[in-house]
Amino acid sequence: MSSQNGNVILEIEDLDISFGGVHAVDHLSFQVKRGEILGLIGPNGSGKSTTVNMISGLYTQDGGRIILDGTDLKRKSVMDRVRLGIGRTFQSPKPFTSLTVFESLYIAALLHNRSSQAAREAAREAMEFAGFSKLADTPCSKLPVERRKWLDMARILPTRPKVILLDECLAGLNPSEMNESLKLVQRINEKGVTIVFIEHVMAAVTQLCHRVVVLNEGRLLSQGEPTEVMRQEEVIKAYLGKGYGNA
Ligand code: ADP
Ligand code: MG
Repeated sequence: MSSQNGNVILEIEDLDISFGGVHAVDHLSFQVKRGEILGLIGPNGSGKSTTVNMISGLYTQDGGRIILDGTDLKRKSVMDRVRLGIGRTFQSPKPFTSLTVFESLYIAALLHNRSSQAAREAAREAMEFAGFSKLADTPCSKLPVERRKWLDMARILPTRPKVILLDECLAGLNPSEMNESLKLVQRINEKGVTIVFIEHVMAAVTQLCHRVVVLNEGRLLSQGEPTEVMRQEEVIKAYLGKGYGNA
């Protein structure tokens, strides 16, 4: 039975998936608390993106359950999950390159707003929130990489997300762009949105995350307060053993 604990917004229970001989996620269980920023960390290939792909509905698990606010997501499509409040970004940003910044936010907003007027307002609000007002008419294809990443996050906002899954949203950014990204993530969290933050840069994880869950070979290795977990021998060993830092 899932816990009826109101402090838990997302429950991962015994989640499992294999690709051929690769047991990518191996009977994984953890909980995401309402309102927190949870870091999901672990070496390359440890199953982080696969977990996010199952939560967002791109992959169907072989076993186990994903429960959002009491609702089992098992038979829900990707679009159903967006409507229920799951938002995500991808490791490589996927802007609608033929659209302008405003149009791309407007299309996202139409998913969650019945009237075009309400969608327009939601798009405008997201645009202002993420600092895109002056770029409303800029084609997404003309945006530099950091802006594409921020737009990816901004596009989730008009769908009124409960949980946003951010898969390596800092990769390829310089330190000042990373800092801007962290501020944006923090501000989204301050709106009451729960965040699952996949990241390799440990300084960013310790700065931003309230808790971390560590995966290794598809299994839960450790979880807890970031600086404490990062000191644990098995966590250090898993990272060093798998070339942590080379990603
Ligand atoms: P991480 O995001 O932690 O780096 P992934 O979740 O991407 O790791 O991958 C975990 C394992 O699952 C890897 O061995 C990867 O090759 C495998 N995997 C992920 N997706 C697929 C897929 N669609 N087909 C085959 N193998 C996959
Ligand atoms: Mg990944």
